[in-house]
Amino acid sequence: APTPVPAPPPVKSATSSVEDTVARIIAEMGGSKPVPAADPTAPFAQGCIVADGMVTKSAGEMNCSCCERGDCALSAASVSLDISDEEAVVLGDGVFASMDEAVEAAAEAQRQYLFCSMAARKSFVDGIREIFLDPAMLERISRMTVEQTGMGNASDKVIKNRLAASKTPGIEDLKTEAESGDGGLTLVEYSAYGVIGSITPTTNPTETIICNTIGMLAAGNAVVFSPHPRAKIVSLLAIKLINRKLAGLGAPANLVVTVQAPSIDNTNAMMAHPKVRMLVATGGPAIVKTVMSTGKKAIGAGAGNPPVVVDETADIEKAAKDIVSGCSFDNNLPCIAEKEVIAVSQIADFLISQMQKNGAYLVKDMAIVKKLEELVLTPKGGPQTNCVGKSAVYLLDKIGISVGPDIRVILIELPKEHPFVQEELMMPILPLVRAGDVDEAIDLAVELEHGNRHTAMIHSTDVRKITKMAKLIQTTIFVKNGPSYAGIGVGGEGYTTFTIAGPTGEGLTSPKSFARRRKCVMVEALNVR
Ligand code: NAD
Repeated sequence: APTPVPAPPPVKSATSSVEDTVARIIAEMGGSKPVPAADPTAPFAQGCIVADGMVTKSAGEMNCSCCERGDCALSAASVSLDISDEEAVVLGDGVFASMDEAVEAAAEAQRQYLFCSMAARKSFVDGIREIFLDPAMLERISRMTVEQTGMGNASDKVIKNRLAASKTPGIEDLKTEAESGDGGLTLVEYSAYGVIGSITPTTNPTETIICNTIGMLAAGNAVVFSPHPRAKIVSLLAIKLINRKLAGLGAPANLVVTVQAPSIDNTNAMMAHPKVRMLVATGGPAIVKTVMSTGKKAIGAGAGNPPVVVDETADIEKAAKDIVSGCSFDNNLPCIAEKEVIAVSQIADFLISQMQKNGAYLVKDMAIVKKLEELVLTPKGGPQTNCVGKSAVYLLDKIGISVGPDIRVILIELPKEHPFVQEELMMPILPLVRAGDVDEAIDLAVELEHGNRHTAMIHSTDVRKITKMAKLIQTTIFVKNGPSYAGIGVGGEGYTTFTIAGPTGEGLTSPKSFARRRKCVMVEALNVR
C-alpha cells in the first residue's frame, strides 16, 4: 500500500509569520503608528494594509488572511469596467478637479506603493494589459479616439492599442545587478522616481497612456497624466478604467491620475509641482523643449521625419508594398511612419509603378500639387491640423479628385527643398526624391531626418550600405527591408514603446527608463564563494 502523504502544514502559520515580519520591519523602520495585530476575520483591505496605511499584498496573492479564506472584499471580479463616455469625465476613479489635488493623491499612492510586493506590481501590470486586450474595449477606445480627434483610422488604432497592452515590457525589465567579494555584497537596483508627470499626444492618446502606465507602474512610480485636450474623453476613460481595475486588484488608490479639464495651464501646473520628480513629454518639439527646460529629470520623445531609402539591390516589389503599408498605417500619424522616399534613379520609375499597384495615387500635375499645398499647409509651411491623420481618399476628395478606398497614399515626385519633403506632415502624402546612387541617397536621408535621431528605413541587400546608413543616421529605430511599424514590434521582433526618446537619449523607453539605479551595500557579508 502506498505510504500516506503527510498533510501539508497549515498555510496560515507561514502567512502570519510573513505578515508579522513585514509589520515588524515597518515598525523598526520608524513607523509612526503601532502595528495592529493581524485580525483573522478582517476584510481584505484591513488584512492587507498592515501598518500606517502601507499596503503589502494584492488580491490573488493568496497570502493574506482573507485571501486564504477566499472572501477578499476587493476581488478582481467585483469591479465594473462599465463606464459610459459621460461618466468618463466625472470626478473620481483618478480624475481630479485640480492638478494640485491630482499630484497630492498620486504622491500618497506612491508612498503606499513602495510597500507593495513585486508580485503585486506584476498583478497590477497584468490587470492593465487585460483591460485593453479585451476586443470590445479595443474597438471602443480606438473608435472613440478617431471620433474625438478626427485623426487616424480605427482598425489601425486597434492594432496599436493591442500592441501597447501586449508588448510593453513589465517588471522583468528591471534586472538587479549584484557584485560580491571580500568587501561583502552590493546590489544595484532600479528604483522608482516617485510621481512622474506624463504629457501625451493627440496622435497616440490611449496607446501612450497604456504604454507609459505599464512602464511607469512596473518601475514603482505613480503617474499624473496631462493628455492632449483634443483627446480628453478617451484619455480620461482609459485612466478611469485603469483605476477601477487597480482598485479591484487591491492597489493603492490613485496610482494613475489626471485632471477633469486637461489644458496647457494644467500641464504647466504639473510641470511646476514640487512633488512631480520626473517629466516625460511625448509630443512635438515645443513640449519636449519645455520639459527639458524645467530643471527636473525629463524624458523627451519628440518629432521625427523618417526617410526611407531604396537602392538598386532591393527587392523593389516588396519595398513598394512595405512603404505604402508603413506610410498609410493609421493615416501616417505614427511618428515612426515613412514620411519621404529617397530612391536611386536607376530603380525609381519601377518603384513608382509598383507603389501604384499597391495603393499609391501618383500626382504629376503641378496644378494639383499646388491645390494640395493650399489644402494641407499653413502659411508658415507646417501641416494644417485639420488635415493631420486624414486618409488619402479624404485629402484627394477635398481637391476634387474622387478615388476608391484602395488608394492609401498620395505619391508625388518632388525636389528635396519642398515642404512636403522637409516637414513632418503626419498625413499620407508621400514625396519621392531621386538620388544618383545609394551614397547620395544616404546623405540625403541624413539631411532630411534633421538630426531628430528618431526613425529611418532602408530597402537594400547590400549589407555595407545598410551599415553605412545605420552609422550615419543615428536614429533610435532603423528598419531594414520592412515597413516602419516593424520597428515597434508589428511584424518585427522585440518589445514596443510609444515613447521613443531621441532628444534625451533613452531611445526605446521601458520600465528601466522610468527608474533610478540605486546601490545597496552590505559590508563583509553574504559572500559565499
Ligand atoms: P503636440 O506637441 O502638439 O502635443 C503633445 C502634448 O503636449 C499635448 O498633450 C499638448 O497638449 C501638450 N503641449 C504642447 N505644447 C505645449 C505647451 N507649450 N505647454 C504645455 N503643454 C503643451 O503634439 P501632438 O500633435 O499631440 O503629437 C504629434 C507630435 O508628437 C509629432 O511631432 C510626433 O512626431 C510627436 N510624437 C512623438 C512620439 C515619440 O515617441 N517620439 C510619439 C508620438 C508623437
